[in-house]
Amino acid sequence: LGQKLQDILDNMRKSGRLTEAQVKAAMREIRVALLEADVNFTVAKDFVARVSEKAVGQDVLGSLNAGQQVVKIVHDELIETLGGKAQQPVLKNDGNVWFMVGLQGAGKTTSTGKLAALYKSKGRRVLLVAADTQRPAAREQLKVLGAQVGVPVLEVNDHEPPQVTRQRLEEYLQKDFRDLVIVDTAGRLQIDEALMDALADLKGALNPSETLLVVDAMTGQEALNVAETFESRIGLSGLIITKMDGDARGGAALSAKSVTGKPIYFAGTSEKISGLEPFYPDRVAGRILGMGDVLSLIERAEQAELSAFAPKKPGEFDLEDLLVQLRNIRKMGPLGDLIKLIPGMSKMLPAEFNVDEKQLQRIDAMISSMTLKERREPKIINGQRRKRIASGSGTSVQEINRLLKMHEQMKEMMKVMQRMGMGPGGKGGKM
Ligand code: GDP
Ligand code: MG
Repeated sequence: LGQKLQDILDNMRKSGRLTEAQVKAAMREIRVALLEADVNFTVAKDFVARVSEKAVGQDVLGSLNAGQQVVKIVHDELIETLGGKAQQPVLKNDGNVWFMVGLQGAGKTTSTGKLAALYKSKGRRVLLVAADTQRPAAREQLKVLGAQVGVPVLEVNDHEPPQVTRQRLEEYLQKDFRDLVIVDTAGRLQIDEALMDALADLKGALNPSETLLVVDAMTGQEALNVAETFESRIGLSGLIITKMDGDARGGAALSAKSVTGKPIYFAGTSEKISGLEPFYPDRVAGRILGMGDVLSLIERAEQAELSAFAPKKPGEFDLEDLLVQLRNIRKMGPLGDLIKLIPGMSKMLPAEFNVDEKQLQRIDAMISSMTLKERREPKIINGQRRKRIASGSGTSVQEINRLLKMHEQMKEMMKVMQRMGMGPGGKGGKM
């Protein structure tokens, strides 16, 4: 995602309400962003339709332009769709059995070990059950993890009927009290009828309190189909999304969550045993949109209530306006990229106007040393006045000259932009 959306956002004028055309233009790009983040095609389409309906006619916040407002609405809706706040599975005092399912390589065994470590550290007595009898090495892998974490592992034997597994588990629990049992199961590379039947049988016998689908964030488009099938064949109560430390933007999470409606409890963030975090919908929403810069602007604008960068008329843009705007901008914190995000600002600033905090402070000091009349009518600032302002602000006459020249250029540029129908106060149109 990139320049194109930025341009659309830049070119959206401030307006009271979001129009259908504005929303449509932004949504086209949002849809591309979602697809680039590997959100399933249908999910992206439905999502965009739903949000468009909500967005049209909404008031544009004082501090945002229309494009940013659309992004805000999309972002908020994404967070909602991803579950709102971080959620954790509910644990009873006893009798918790968690059944881990998912495709081969999704990260079931790893996540089982991670959950064991996490809940052991919370004071739970965890037992792991190695029920992946498909691959010889699978039980061994879980045993290694169990030893590492310091929790026992009950191994299911080859061709063991589910009822026998259940009986063996009950017998084990009578000898050794465990309040959280986590069952690692077999996966296949692709969804497979025989596997689904076997899983359904084992689930029926063990009657778990949670059935957790482990989804690899890198599976992208396929996540929807996987989640849908596991939900309909096995029945799920929650999701774990792994490999969020990779390049994947998290579209798989949105797809899996949308199609199952089940909460995403955890995100896997490394291969290590400690690499498991609660799933934070707001973080992932930002990552899916891939618009961190716009989002952080929106956040800061909401905090600082940046007043619109739209002087009455470009021709009337005086030094007082410049001062007010600079102060508004500075309220928003670290400058750097921020200033470029203000619609039209980057195009308005002369190249030599190097934006750094120190320079803004000096400009502030210079304008502050002027009388109101001078700010309103910079052309009265003669040599005498320049000297006075320079000494009053601890700057030099050369700097005052440069400021006045820069202001002249900005004013000119704003006039040109307005004639072309662009820029603050313009009627819209493309750069
Ligand atoms: P299973 O077949 O579903 O049991 O998958 P495994 O637990 O064996 O994991 C498959 C591979 O993915 C292993 O190499 C794991 O180390 C790796 N893996 C699992 N979860 C994560 C994760 O959150 N981040 C990263 N980077 N790798 C992971
Ligand atoms: Mg495994």
